[in-house]
Amino acid sequence: MRLLLVEDEAKLNFSIKKGLEQKGYAVDSAFDGEEGELFAKNQDYDLVILDILLPKKDGLTVCTDLRHAGVHVPILFLTAKDALEDKVVGLDSGADDYLIKPFAFTELLARVRALLRRPKTVLPAVLKSHELTLDTAAQTVQIGRSEVSLTRREFQLLEYFLRNKNTVLTREQILDHVWDMAADTFSNTVDAHVKNLRKKLKGAYAGYLQTVRGMGYRYTD
Ligand code: CA
Repeated sequence: MRLLLVEDEAKLNFSIKKGLEQKGYAVDSAFDGEEGELFAKNQDYDLVILDILLPKKDGLTVCTDLRHAGVHVPILFLTAKDALEDKVVGLDSGADDYLIKPFAFTELLARVRALLRRPKTVLPAVLKSHELTLDTAAQTVQIGRSEVSLTRREFQLLEYFLRNKNTVLTREQILDHVWDMAADTFSNTVDAHVKNLRKKLKGAYAGYLQTVRGMGYRYTD
């Protein structure tokens, strides 16, 4: 899952980004409202974490403008203010949830998971394909009872495939959801990771991950 974090306090931005990445999310950082809005409009994020007090453009306005522009990504507000009015204003502007600063990282993580799970098509925490199970909370993949050891990126890649079974995913879509903007990617990045993933999955599961000529990849079990 790919997240956008809009937070002007550099230290806080960095520590949240790092924490989320350790949990397997791809995270892009923006440091003011205008930059955040631009990123959110141009990239296909699964969730935006948006601070309210931001330079250039405040989070509430960014949220309202994004909704008007037809961007329906879930938005989690961060706010130092805890007045009730602000909460109400925040949710009126089209945000999905809010978190009051200072907060514990575990609390942020719980809200992020809840929002990612909430969408129209309910996103389950455990994904299955026959005997294969991918547990997004425990960050484990098992085939039957034996654990498959994947890198963080391979895990994210497999999660993305399992969430989009029977759908052809282009390399661009895969890059957008599994890699953050700052990552060094090359024209063969996706292919190389798919190849490694197939090697680790082996047998039938490797076969389920099909190459669709001239288009991309599709997981069909
Ligand atoms: Ca701020």
